[in-house]
Amino acid sequence: MKKHLLQTSAIALGAAALLAVSAPAFSQAAAGPTDADLMNDEQTPGDVLTYGMGSRAQRFSPLTQLNSENVARLVPAFAASLGGEKQRGQEAQPIVYDGTIYVTGSYSRLFAFDARTGEEKWQYDARLPDGIVPCCDVVNRGAAIYGDKIIFGTLDARLVALNRLTGKVIWNKQIADYKEGYSFTAAPMIVKGKVITGNSGGEFGIIGRVEARDVNTGELIWSRPTIEGNMGTLNGKDSTITGKTNATWQGDQYKTGGGATWLGGTYDPDTNLIYMGTSNPSPWNSHMRPGDNLYTASTLAIDPDTGEIKWHFQTTPHDGWDFDGVNEFIPFDAMRNGKMMKLGAKADRNGYFFVLDRTNGKFLSATPFVSKITWADGFDKNGRPKYIPSNRPGAPDGANKGTSVFAAPSFLGGKNWMPMAYSQQTGLFYVPSNEWGMDIWNEPIAYKKGAAYLGAGFTIKPLYEDHIGVLRAVDPATGKIMWEYKNKAPLWGGVLTTAGNLVFTGTPEGFLKAFDAKTGKELWKFNTGSGVVGSPVTWTQDGEQYVAVMSGWGGAVPLWGGEVAKAVQHINQGGSLWVFKLPKS
Ligand code: CA
Ligand code: CA
Repeated sequence: MKKHLLQTSAIALGAAALLAVSAPAFSQAAAGPTDADLMNDEQTPGDVLTYGMGSRAQRFSPLTQLNSENVARLVPAFAASLGGEKQRGQEAQPIVYDGTIYVTGSYSRLFAFDARTGEEKWQYDARLPDGIVPCCDVVNRGAAIYGDKIIFGTLDARLVALNRLTGKVIWNKQIADYKEGYSFTAAPMIVKGKVITGNSGGEFGIIGRVEARDVNTGELIWSRPTIEGNMGTLNGKDSTITGKTNATWQGDQYKTGGGATWLGGTYDPDTNLIYMGTSNPSPWNSHMRPGDNLYTASTLAIDPDTGEIKWHFQTTPHDGWDFDGVNEFIPFDAMRNGKMMKLGAKADRNGYFFVLDRTNGKFLSATPFVSKITWADGFDKNGRPKYIPSNRPGAPDGANKGTSVFAAPSFLGGKNWMPMAYSQQTGLFYVPSNEWGMDIWNEPIAYKKGAAYLGAGFTIKPLYEDHIGVLRAVDPATGKIMWEYKNKAPLWGGVLTTAGNLVFTGTPEGFLKAFDAKTGKELWKFNTGSGVVGSPVTWTQDGEQYVAVMSGWGGAVPLWGGEVAKAVQHINQGGSLWVFKLPKS
């Protein structure tokens, strides 16, 4: 506890010193953010330059002006509508720079709003072709800013760089063929002048990839397939094969193996590694693909200069439940077994909270962060799950479906895409989790290009009558749950934490809520008029601390949620940016 207090005062002093220089000189603002600015984002509260509020994506702000003593007085400063008829899930995190808030919207749109008034500066609408196949709503999770550009991905698997002042296209590149089942929904990440992206399409027998492009031209620099046996590229030539062909896949199955990198990644300057999660193997029916199926349902550590995989850790080998392991891997430094260590944490779809040594991928711990897990009974000392074989859905018998099982978590996960936050003040992770299970069974399936490749059927069911969502404070040293907040509807939005002893997250019921970071006490809420499934951010502007979040219900739950989808079908859609601050005293 004493250590945390010391850290807090150091952070508060640092923030005060930085506030004085947070308004960039005119020429600097005109040139736009540099690589150094992006790497420094955590330490500069006058802007939000990266997805995750820092390349490590801790979603922690050192700001203390708004705090657990005064948050009850927080009020809206303005709201801005995304307009039109295209109101679907708004899962984006805002970017804030030089008096402008940039947000992406459903159906691959990007908006620039005045950060003081909410007036729209410009809007860009991607012209999407017929025949796109996004699995889980027409969402987008955010943009990346660099120099004169603001860059985002589109549902037809393109990457578009716009002039951040005018919204005019600078370059527009196809990253994959949507007709084969590829799409793109993540926020791109920029590391050392390279745009780092993944891809979506794990339900269509695609091949997951991590790729780096020149931020100025969009030209491909390297490509790294995530499925063992596929060839990577570097500077226009073949580089190395991922893993060892047919070591963990049989025959040609590695050519349709899945492993989509649909959530993007984090980057740690200390280790110079990109950390990227990979999705489920294809098809879902695990009996059709014996073996561990590397590198699906894993975290990969990748060299940003060459695209080589430096280490991997597979959270669900031979996945049979769509425990799609894309969840963010968050670098943090903490004491472990008596010494300071470079660690990383991941709250996985499979219900376990993992802590690894982020320098080498060594397994340290896996602890449950949801109340019911049926597929495994913990992990052994090497980080291998202790499977419960009777909970694997059975193999189909000829044309008939296999034995159905009730499995928890459901395939939408103990935690899905919505990012957790790590407080440098409390040393806790704040994990948006859900309590649900599913009936799941396998069916015969054959691969067909561009068509769903599951070989499984399912119905999601709640585990409890009074709640599905649970925001949990997890101590990464012990895995202990320090507090929890239960929500009736499933949680589907990101989390923000601040040195003001605050944790923010949104609910499908429409609220943005603030909690005491140490105790979990609910301190403030405001209803935005539609479900909140975006990720909140905070920054300072003209000496005042602001909080912003997107409102607009949607995402995977209404489409795939089975009995849970029925329970939330009354929630109204929307599409707005909401911005809050304390009233002037
Ligand atoms: Ca910043
Ligand atoms: Ca999946």
